[in-house]
Amino acid sequence: MKRNKYIIGNWKMNGTAASIKIVNFIANHLKKRKQTSPKIIICPPFTLLSNFNQFKDKISYGGQDCHYAKEGAYTGSISALMLKSLGCKYVIIGHSERREFQNENSKELSLKIKAALENNLNVIYCIGEKLSEIKKRKIILKNQINSLPDKFDIKKIIIAYEPVWAIGTGKIPFLNEIDDILKSIRKLLEKKIGVSKSETISILYGGSVKPSNADEILNLKQVDGALVGGSSLVAKDFCKIIDSSKQ
Ligand code: PEP
Repeated sequence: MKRNKYIIGNWKMNGTAASIKIVNFIANHLKKRKQTSPKIIICPPFTLLSNFNQFKDKISYGGQDCHYAKEGAYTGSISALMLKSLGCKYVIIGHSERREFQNENSKELSLKIKAALENNLNVIYCIGEKLSEIKKRKIILKNQINSLPDKFDIKKIIIAYEPVWAIGTGKIPFLNEIDDILKSIRKLLEKKIGVSKSETISILYGGSVKPSNADEILNLKQVDGALVGGSSLVAKDFCKIIDSSKQ
C-alpha cells in the first residue's frame, strides 16, 4: 500500500513577519525539485498564516491548534472555521506541549478533531508517551488513538508519533523501535477502523529530526514522513530533511 508522505514543520511560538524569508527559501528549493512527494506543510503561529497563501502551490499550511467551538466567548482562541477561512488545509491537534501546558485532555481533543473534520480540515493528530510512561506506552497510545472518532474520512487524518522525551532534546528512539512502535500504532488503528482503512493512513515520526538523522529515520519501512520542530525554522536544514524523504 503506497501512502502519502509528508514533511511537516511545526514552528511552535516562533517567527515574526521577517520569518517569511524562511518560507521563501523553502518554496524556491521546492521549485527546483521535480518530485511532488513528500507533501510539504508548515504550521506557523496564527499571526503568520495570512502570509502563507502566496506559497500555496508548493507549501500547504495549517494551524497548530483550534478550538472545538464554532465561535463564542473564548478569548485568545481560534476556531477551525477561522483557520479554513485563511486557506489552511491542516491543523495540528494534540501536540504534547498543548497536552501539557494547556492541560488538553482526551475529551477536549476528541471535540477538537470533530470540529476540524466538520470544517474540512485535515488533522495532524499527535500522540506519544512521556519518559515516565515508556513502560506503559501501549496503553498510552491506545488511549490517545481512542480520541479519534469511531468513523472518519481516512483521507483527513495523519498520525504523528512523537515520544515526548524526544521533542527538542536531540534524543531519538532506536531505529528498529520507531518501526516497531509505528507498526503497533497501525494495529491500534486496525482495531478501530479495520485493516484496509488503517493501511491508508500516513503515520509520521516526530522528535529531534534533523539533517543528520533524517535519512535513517525517513527511510524506515513504517515511517511515512516527519513532523519537525526546531529544524523547520532553519531553511537549509528543513530542505535537507525534505530531500532525505523517500518518495
Ligand atoms: C515538535 O515539536 O513537534 C517536534 C518534533 O520538535 P523537535 O523537532 O524540535 O524535536
